[in-house]
Amino acid sequence: MPRMIPIEKQNQTQDRRSEVLSLPIPITGAVHTSGDGCVVDTRGRPLTDLRISVTDHCNFRCRYCMPKEKYGAHAKFLAHTELLTFEEIFRLSRLFVGMGVKKLRLTGGEPLLRKHLDELVARLKTLTTREGTPVEVALTTNAALLARFAPALKAAGLDRVTVSLDALTEELFQSINDVGFPVSGVLAGIRAARAAGLPVKVNTVLKRGMNEAEILPLARAFRGTGITLRFIEYMDAGTANGWRMDEVIPSREAAAIIGNVFPLEPVDAAYRGETASRMRYLDGAGEVGFISSVTEAFCRDCTRARLSVEGGLFLCLFADRGYDIRTMLRGGATDEEIRLAVGRIWSARADHYSEIRQQGTEHSRARVEMQYIGG
Ligand code: SAM
Ligand code: SF4
Ligand code: SF4
Repeated sequence: MPRMIPIEKQNQTQDRRSEVLSLPIPITGAVHTSGDGCVVDTRGRPLTDLRISVTDHCNFRCRYCMPKEKYGAHAKFLAHTELLTFEEIFRLSRLFVGMGVKKLRLTGGEPLLRKHLDELVARLKTLTTREGTPVEVALTTNAALLARFAPALKAAGLDRVTVSLDALTEELFQSINDVGFPVSGVLAGIRAARAAGLPVKVNTVLKRGMNEAEILPLARAFRGTGITLRFIEYMDAGTANGWRMDEVIPSREAAAIIGNVFPLEPVDAAYRGETASRMRYLDGAGEVGFISSVTEAFCRDCTRARLSVEGGLFLCLFADRGYDIRTMLRGGATDEEIRLAVGRIWSARADHYSEIRQQGTEHSRARVEMQYIGG
């Protein structure tokens, strides 16, 4: 039975929704495509990746993402009826794949909190790209529930998992996730994923004063294991975390810390739109990556769109507003109407927020929160 939502709460949700998803769906305008038929934006960037946030709930309260002060007992989350259903996510994914998307990434909030996620994965894996290859389906997770779900996700066809892990020191990790979840639980999730046959990457957000002392222990723990570790610069995503530039640890600083002990050399990017700069250990112990969203913006190759938990389309991680695709879906729009709208939206895209920030011309402004559009 659907959950009953009091009228005044429904109105509040509706007001917030119409404010965040207020960009007008274009009814005129050209759809630009490249030679292979993929839709491209004003900077020639094809739409090849779609990140799908499947829930705004999380079982962690990472201080830099969902701090308890803002996401405490009284925090408002979306009602189940507000979320895109699996059917809606599948339909939109099918349309996006038809326009050139090759990779789908399930994220959140914590995506493993969405019930029966393996069923969604199995459906998405039935899609084929314009080139006729199976679409790639990946997952980003805090891994708290990964040990439980890895076998079913692998059986459903999931291609790869990215696990977020910001520290190996027990006390520090528990204070970062702020719910006392142990490192051993994350490591068990990683082991289970690998045992199930899922390739795993580990992402670490670096924040000065939080976990710079973990850089070397993390590098040491994952080199030679076949798991690629990637360090991410702390970003000014959302507004809940009170981001400050002096808290960013530039990738070059992290690379130097590792390189002084385990010498590194650069590796060429594997494909356009690869966000991480890759480095290889000279002694053959594998690779380590650096995602320098703040100090070396990679907007020129940004090929990602983001589908929010309630069916908003966002063209940039730092967008303050999005397009209300769910209303189109639930209002009976045809596939062709949705395809045309998304094609026009992407064709008019000019976003390059990180480049602007890097040039120092950006002033603080509203932004949607990370767990809503999924990082
Ligand atoms: N809950 C899942 C997880 O933590 O992997 C998926 C959602 S989470 C929003 C996706 C990624 O965004 C995580 O790797 C997280 O560390 C990262 N993230 C969150 N806030 C960030 C920030 N301000 N700067 C950089 N990365 C951030
Ligand atoms: Fe949850 Fe992921 Fe945000 Fe941490 S980073 S609070 S695990 S959504
Ligand atoms: Fe893409 Fe926006 Fe990030 Fe630039 S700032 S890389 S456009 S998401």
